[in-house]
Amino acid sequence: MDSLQVQAMNQAQDARRTTELTRIAAACERLECGEYGFCAKCGSDITPARLQNDSAVSFCLACA
Ligand SMILES: [Zn+2]
Repeated sequence: MDSLQVQAMNQAQDARRTTELTRIAAACERLECGEYGFCAKCGSDITPARLQNDSAVSFCLACA
């Protein structure tokens, strides 16, 4: 693998990490507001199974 490929892969990984951190920060804000576990779009409960699968998820299955 040449260095340009390595650089591109690192950049892609950084972008994914940034996106993930943003999602987690948003989930923490919802926790503080008492809105955690509710869909950010329709306000209905997000199923525990869905939260267990991805604890930073912000939409219910219907809105995702
Ligand atoms: Zn929803």
